Amino acid sequence: AIGLGQWLAERASRDAHRPALSFEGHTRSYGQLQDEVERMAAVLRASGVGEGARVAYLGFNHPMFFIGLFATARLGAIFVPLNFRLTGPELAYIINDAGAHTLIVDANHVAVIEPVRASLACQSFWLAHGDRPAQAQAPWPELGAALREAEPLREPAVSVQADDVALIMYTSGTTGQPKGAMLTHGNFWWNHVNELLTIDCNASDVLLVFAPVYHIGGLNVMTLTMFLKGGHVVLQRQFDPGAVLRDIAAYKVNKIFLVPAMLLFISQHPDFAQADLSTLKLISCGGAPCPEPLLHLFNARGIAVQQGYGLTETAAMATTLTAEWAARKIGSVGMAPLLTQVRALDADEQVITEPGQRGEICVRGQNVTRGYWNKPEATAAALSADGWFRTGDVGYFDAEGFWYICDRVKDMIISGGENVYPAEVESVLHGHPAVAEVAVIGAPDEKWGETVLAVVALKPGQALTLEELQAHASQSLARYKIPRRLALLPALPRNPTGKILKYQLRAQFNPR
Ligand code: ATP
Repeated sequence: AIGLGQWLAERASRDAHRPALSFEGHTRSYGQLQDEVERMAAVLRASGVGEGARVAYLGFNHPMFFIGLFATARLGAIFVPLNFRLTGPELAYIINDAGAHTLIVDANHVAVIEPVRASLACQSFWLAHGDRPAQAQAPWPELGAALREAEPLREPAVSVQADDVALIMYTSGTTGQPKGAMLTHGNFWWNHVNELLTIDCNASDVLLVFAPVYHIGGLNVMTLTMFLKGGHVVLQRQFDPGAVLRDIAAYKVNKIFLVPAMLLFISQHPDFAQADLSTLKLISCGGAPCPEPLLHLFNARGIAVQQGYGLTETAAMATTLTAEWAARKIGSVGMAPLLTQVRALDADEQVITEPGQRGEICVRGQNVTRGYWNKPEATAAALSADGWFRTGDVGYFDAEGFWYICDRVKDMIISGGENVYPAEVESVLHGHPAVAEVAVIGAPDEKWGETVLAVVALKPGQALTLEELQAHASQSLARYKIPRRLALLPALPRNPTGKILKYQLRAQFNPR
């Protein structure tokens, strides 16, 4: 297979002077990026990172993340990006589960690691960038200084097989116990193929990246493919709607990936109406259902919003709604790219052949994970012998073969024997003028088993009663889908990519 480390070297040798990566006012060319990758590879190798070793990275978005990723791949080692919102004990579990040899941490997260550092089995620790915090107890050798002193490793990248693991990405953000999805060099390669088949990626593109890159969307929806094509990636440390609007104009950004919550926050920013978005042509939006009014708001500014559906375990894209269908199939997540397959299973595990019938979505293709790191049972439960991955999502296809996502199997509410898909109810409740954010969960009910509970955050200065919400919902929803209870919160709990943490809401309002 063509490994991540190999193709970057090839790109750098052809396009040494083209801009590769901009961050906080500083732009690296492909040649400079490759030079740093080779220095990083030298530093990691000298500290004992060999083929198959795990290198974990904890930090905000930063060029050092990509330098670490490509250098690790060059050595035939495995990169383990970590979610910076986790607590010390949660991180320690993942770092030790992955058996990380090396841990790279940015200055902002040293304080989270120090209390658990003694419990970590890592042999080497590095400070990714930034100043060593004054209160730091343990030694934190500076990676930046080590890179400057290192002799770049000029030898060719270790050659890899398609099945060799390149990265382990832990997933559980919204459901509980973390599992490390193994993504191979072959998975990454096929994600490039899928993107090049469905998104118009070019060397002249400028992609703005602000979704966290430890997450599959930030890392793999266009970002790595942009480096493959020789495009320009503008990276932001964290999501900040004002900075997004500023950098679109400053860098003449033409492409963005985001999750719907980010789209909402950008549209609510005071600078949104005046911002110069004339260069922006495509927003790839996935990770959660996108409310329709938001689509129109951006379409009206000449920006296409391309819906996509995918998971960590599918190395990003499983389906996408390409531009030619966007207007006719609103609400659909489109079709699988050529050579990736999608199907749904009914409650008896039979493959659904009728349009409109709902079932659990399964995906098969070269982009699909080999399984979970050190978790053979979880792997066997999720992956069939013939390669179908169970997504845990409920969906259906229409008469023309376009897919629609209803909800997660686990989030479905069963009320009086009827299935209620919270996502459908949420999209209706979103349309109420007082509602800023909404999540729908099941509440225990003696008569119905479960009923619908709406948890709402209101727009500033607004008020809302259950009766008003019900009156609004009854215009478009069947009776059993209408909320029977309403809870108000100042804001809804979300994971770093903006997904609402329903398990927290269930724990608060519906302890089972
Ligand atoms: P978990 O760890 O429980 O799998 P996660 O959100 O951290 O949750 P990801 O792999 O990041 O896991 O996200 C994949 C999930 O996001 C899908 O299983 C699906 O439920 C949801 N999702 C992705 N795209 C869409 C979309 N376009 N519409 C609706 N839901 C989507």
